[in-house]
Amino acid sequence: MRAAALFLALDRAGNPSRWINHETAIHLIATDRVIAPMGQTVRAFRGGVNARTGRESHVEVSSILLTRSRVQPHLWREEYQPPLTNQALFARDDHLCLYCGEVFPIRDLTRDHVVPRSRGGTDAWTNVATSCRRCNQRKGARTPEEWGMELLAVPYVPCYAEHLLLRGRNILSDQAAFLRARMRRTQ
Ligand SMILES: [Zn+2]
Repeated sequence: MRAAALFLALDRAGNPSRWINHETAIHLIATDRVIAPMGQTVRAFRGGVNARTGRESHVEVSSILLTRSRVQPHLWREEYQPPLTNQALFARDDHLCLYCGEVFPIRDLTRDHVVPRSRGGTDAWTNVATSCRRCNQRKGARTPEEWGMELLAVPYVPCYAEHLLLRGRNILSDQAAFLRARMRRTQ
């Protein structure tokens, strides 16, 4: 089953803040914590039944919501590092093995430590690359130079906007465009 698209909540300054489900979005609207709808797509949900009128209410939820939530400055600092997960790593590298350059399904991908951990390499964004199982096995405990292979891209730390983009599911085009426009690194 396709998971339902989520809503992108912005903080009060308009920075992308988090993904929320429709229950949370409706709750924010009902409690007056949404300042304005900002997305191009709107989904309608059935609300409760009004006890007095007996009529059912409808709530319209925009794909992007400007909310009253506070700005979290640490997310926008240069040194911010999003959590490193395989899902986010493979998405950063477009599911491409950065050694042989082929695209693989997730089950055939691994997290390669460019400088191997046994050699003091860290488990950090700038030292990890998406690698297919075969390349990872062949590389073993060597650096790319020792193996005689060059990485196809330089590993980097995604900014918070890219982090939201990488971890989102079924992202709508207006949400993706909004996040891309906020990315430090332009693709
Ligand atoms: Zn490979």
